[in-house]
Amino acid sequence: MIYNNVLEAIGHTPMIKLNKMNKKGSADVLVKFEGLNVGGSIKTRTAYNMIRHAEKEGKIHEGTVIVEPTSGNQGIGLALVGAVKGYKTIIIMPDSVSEERRKLVNHYGAEVVLIHDDGDIGKCIQECLDTALRMAEENENVFVPQQFSNINNIGAHKYHTALEILEQTSVRIDGFCSGIGTGGTITGIGETLKAQYPDMVIWAVEPENAAILAGGNIGTHLQMGIGDGIIPDILNQNIYDDIYIVTDEEAIQTAKDLASKEGIMCGISSGTNVAAALKLAEKLGEGKTVVTILPDTAERYFSTPLFEE
Ligand code: PMP
Repeated sequence: MIYNNVLEAIGHTPMIKLNKMNKKGSADVLVKFEGLNVGGSIKTRTAYNMIRHAEKEGKIHEGTVIVEPTSGNQGIGLALVGAVKGYKTIIIMPDSVSEERRKLVNHYGAEVVLIHDDGDIGKCIQECLDTALRMAEENENVFVPQQFSNINNIGAHKYHTALEILEQTSVRIDGFCSGIGTGGTITGIGETLKAQYPDMVIWAVEPENAAILAGGNIGTHLQMGIGDGIIPDILNQNIYDDIYIVTDEEAIQTAKDLASKEGIMCGISSGTNVAAALKLAEKLGEGKTVVTILPDTAERYFSTPLFEE
């Protein structure tokens, strides 16, 4: 089969069973490996879905400039979609995101604007958003997808990622867990899976230093892409049954184990998700099935502690 362009190849990522990391007597853990997605992360799906819908709704046209505040992967996804569709793209990100992410955005031909992160990531993300909205005010050709409040972010997962998960699993799904950046993943996948399996358990997962849903303090942490210090507009706070907290050390060690024990090269928030999934699997026990997401590839983290010995 030949795709007409790379956008048609988005999605259809593999679901893989973990073999060595779960404890004896635990449920099976299945991971959906979005590091193998076009663009190297789950966020290519949301970029494509938000741009497609904006086109359909007449919000963008030839000459539109796409401007988005993002802590990384969404910028890479939008830069990729902009490159294929011929829209100039400007990505506004905190200067604390890994160098690889900035370089990838540039490599797709998009422009990067950096905003200084002085340790308060919530404040910095807000400044990135304010800058984008100011650009839209000053130029009518600017379109800001606003992933934190765009329902087509949820739609990418509700109508695509989640349906793939259901197609790929012949067994009943008893548990699902996910970290929260925009909340699109947990809301979209959670809503579709819970409609199919109303008794299943869903855990929201938060970094220890950014456990805003659990009422904790917000500080810096290494689990990039989640725990931005805000409760996103599109997050369905009724979709999860419980909150599970993961430390940076646990996230990084789990991501390292995924590579060295299971042969799966994924990013730090994948470690977060799997650390929680292993705990949920232990709780649910043998014969049950837990699903989680590996949002991106490890190759985005060479300059971070993930690759420190
Ligand atoms: N992990 C990584 C690496 C991400 O880039 C993102 C997206 N910000 C997430 C997890 C969380 O996904 P969502 O925005 O759908 O909550």
